[in-house]
Amino acid sequence: MNKKNIAILGSTGSVGTQALDVVRAFPDLLKVSVLTGGANVELLIAQAREFKPQAVVITDESAYSRLREGLQDLDMELFAGVEALVEVAARPEVDVLLNAIVGAAGLKPTVAAIQKGKDIALANKETLVVAGELIMGLAEKHQVKILPVDSEHSAIFQCLVGEELNPIEKIYLTASGGPFRGKDRAFLAHVTKLEALKHPNWVMGAKITIDSASLMNKGLEVIEAKWLFNLEVEQIDVIIHPQSVIHSIVQFEDGSMKAQMGVPDMKLPIQNALTFPYRMANTFERFDFMKYPNFSFEQADMETFQNLNLAYAALRAGGDRACVLNAANEVAVAAFLNDELSFLGMSELIEATLCQQAFVQQPTLDDYIAIDQQTRIVARDLINKL
Ligand code: NAD
Ligand code: MG
Repeated sequence: MNKKNIAILGSTGSVGTQALDVVRAFPDLLKVSVLTGGANVELLIAQAREFKPQAVVITDESAYSRLREGLQDLDMELFAGVEALVEVAARPEVDVLLNAIVGAAGLKPTVAAIQKGKDIALANKETLVVAGELIMGLAEKHQVKILPVDSEHSAIFQCLVGEELNPIEKIYLTASGGPFRGKDRAFLAHVTKLEALKHPNWVMGAKITIDSASLMNKGLEVIEAKWLFNLEVEQIDVIIHPQSVIHSIVQFEDGSMKAQMGVPDMKLPIQNALTFPYRMANTFERFDFMKYPNFSFEQADMETFQNLNLAYAALRAGGDRACVLNAANEVAVAAFLNDELSFLGMSELIEATLCQQAFVQQPTLDDYIAIDQQTRIVARDLINKL
């Protein structure tokens, strides 16, 4: 494998820091050329001092002077603000963009990188939820690969290697069920953010952890899978698998099923996306069957976890519905974390926002960005009226 230059957007986050663990494991194969962080400037400085990228961005402009001070003895280009993400993602020396920021903010840098012919290692699922059709079309036009980092989609992607001639009958996205698996709505009515932030199997950023508890994460992943693998909605099923060892399953037209499994550790799908098509030897933890004597499966409870229903409905309705769903969800999660909404109130807000926003059949990229902004205003207004 030739050495690759990687731009990591969101390097101070959960996926970002684990991506740097992967880079540390392969110093001869992977080189960091761009690092970006939202607000944690001290960690960003430490990362830049260790990995010596050409460019560093802090999106929180108030932390820019500290970034300059912390890196003043090093020869690096330093930037502040979200607009800089679009520029650094498409720099000439970048081979692969690892997009590990959270939310619809990931859309513009992804588009910029694709237009400059960069392959995309995509953790930021919201990019595909908001504008999946448009992104996949652009990727085809510019002949770039979209390499999934999300563990379920990485699993499907790995199961499809060598199956180019064989249509998919259906896929099963596995879901842990989150901290509230098996609970009813009466229970969910009173859960707190501290309970929702305790994921049984994964340590992740706050937004995706809440999405996992509400099953919105799985809903977003259904939409992500549709676009990545060009499937009909009916071909995508969700199955609860609390052990999170089988990362997802493809069923082919002869009934045969291929699953990908491994320890629940994001370093694996991150490495796969960064080194594909090679499987490079590493010393990460290996699976131990004796720790998992049983695998189990359950039907997802869409009555209790309305978010999964809402995501399927948005995907079926098409047009801008997934973009609206996503923006309303981002507002809902932030409000829940800010004690302005209850756990079940999140689904109610998303549904009410979807009702208020007029349907747009075929949005352009600019439309999507405007609809995302507009939806946030509508959702915030609805919260303020509570
Ligand atoms: P995180 O909150 O831990 O980190 C997000 C990173 O992006 C941080 O560096 C933060 O400073 C930066 N950031 C946040 N908002 C930003 C904005 N508006 N503009 C620019 N930078 C911003 O999140 P995470 O858990 O690492 O998740 C990142 C993405 O990966 C999400 O889309 C998530 O759904 C996806 N993902 C995460 C995991 C996981 O294990 N954490 C697994 C699968 C998919
Ligand atoms: Mg996932």
